[in-house]
Amino acid sequence: MCKKMNEEKKKRKAVIIGCGIAGPALAIALKHVGIDSEIFEATKTTPNFGILSLTSNAICALKLLGVFEKIKTDNSPNAYFYKHDGRLLKIPDMVSELEKHNLDDGIIVHRSNLVQELKEKAVSNGTRINFEKKLVDIQEEPDKVIAIFEDGTEIEGDLLIGCDGPFSKTRNIVLSNSPLPTYSGNIWTGVDLGIYKKFDLLPNAFHMTFGRKAYSGTLTFSDSRTIWWTNVPCPENTLEEFKKMSPGNWTKKLSELHKDDHARMLDSIKSGNNKHVRIPLYDIPYLPTWHRNSVCLIGDAAHATSPYIGQGAAMAMEDAIVLAKCLRDIPESNNAFVKFEKLRKKRTENIVKISQQTGSLITTSNPIKQLLRNLLLPRTITSSIKKLNWIFSYKISWDEKIK
Ligand SMILES: Cc1cc2nc3c(=O)[nH]c(=O)nc-3n(C[C@H](O)[C@H](O)[C@H](O)COP(=O)(O)OP(=O)(O)OC[C@H]3O[C@@H](n4cnc5c(N)ncnc54)[C@H](O)[C@@H]3O)c2cc1C
Repeated sequence: MCKKMNEEKKKRKAVIIGCGIAGPALAIALKHVGIDSEIFEATKTTPNFGILSLTSNAICALKLLGVFEKIKTDNSPNAYFYKHDGRLLKIPDMVSELEKHNLDDGIIVHRSNLVQELKEKAVSNGTRINFEKKLVDIQEEPDKVIAIFEDGTEIEGDLLIGCDGPFSKTRNIVLSNSPLPTYSGNIWTGVDLGIYKKFDLLPNAFHMTFGRKAYSGTLTFSDSRTIWWTNVPCPENTLEEFKKMSPGNWTKKLSELHKDDHARMLDSIKSGNNKHVRIPLYDIPYLPTWHRNSVCLIGDAAHATSPYIGQGAAMAMEDAIVLAKCLRDIPESNNAFVKFEKLRKKRTENIVKISQQTGSLITTSNPIKQLLRNLLLPRTITSSIKKLNWIFSYKISWDEKIK
């Protein structure tokens, strides 16, 4: 039996679709359990805008993947919240609140750094990454799976894992009856302001403003490099029109949105030189299943989430490690996928739901809800850290066997 299991492990090759966060994390995790893989990414390179806040659970995953030391920063920013007029809302000190629950502070990283380090580690382990390979079809045969790319090339493997994000083609092909991602009603838009020293913003800190019409954030690094972003409410039926808006008109729209808020908002918008990135926010609250035969989904492809509690990248890396452990300990891939889904689905669905609820509270434009939210903020922060401890304290270990 043991010999059979080893042979099964030796001969398996995984085809990974997508080289965002889940893809290279999975390649590293699979290598750790003795499974070779190859990654196929649709784009030419990795998008380089954006920051990620990584909480204790993400840090645990990064350590298991062996990249924490490379991406670790001294950026454990504190958070400050402001009313629309710029008055600071009193809240408890986050770092001490986390310490009370034995949780790490968390870190902030540039998305591009994280993806780059994951890619480098995967490549140094012998994983090949192929760019400009857009998956267009999948053929499943009894003993293999074949991925077909837009350029007409094909690759076969023993299993295929869709790490291709919220609009996963893998999901679209093999789980075609799945519900579509749900639009949140908001476009996230942001810009890198470079070294920004106006308004005496405390460095190494998040400065969040509950604007009259939109929730906005500023992250200032220790060297005063500053990222500014806001959530633009946008009904689904006007989404296309908003996406196509010229950069100049987009900036005008942002200025209009924040015209009743404190001066820093308008200045940040102007200082962005019309270079705002725009990302409509979608989530996937529920899929009936994540796998079929020798194909499985992980990361945003399975459970995309809005960014309000900063957990999407964390969940993608957790998935990668748990799936690798399932494939290590359960001989048949299909049975391993069943176990993987059982271990991960409830947690990820709950996180997506909590993120949605948090988003609707922080982005509300209802004045009464805004008033209540601002009044209750100190209590909400303390109780949330306690209530959400199960998210942040989630620990995985390579040693523990999956049964
Ligand atoms: C504004 C914003 C802020 C966020 N902030 C945080 C945060 O602070 N903390 C946190 O933990 N998470 C955060 N997230 C969530 C996080 O970014 C995602 O959950 C994470 O990127 C998911 O990783 P993934 O690899 O599953 O998907 P992705 O990162 O989307 O990667 C998918 C990859 O698949 C490729 N692909 C797509 N289709 C194909 C195809 N047909 N063939 C081949 N390749 C394909 C794509 O090009 C892409 O490279 C945020 C998200 C947003 C939008």
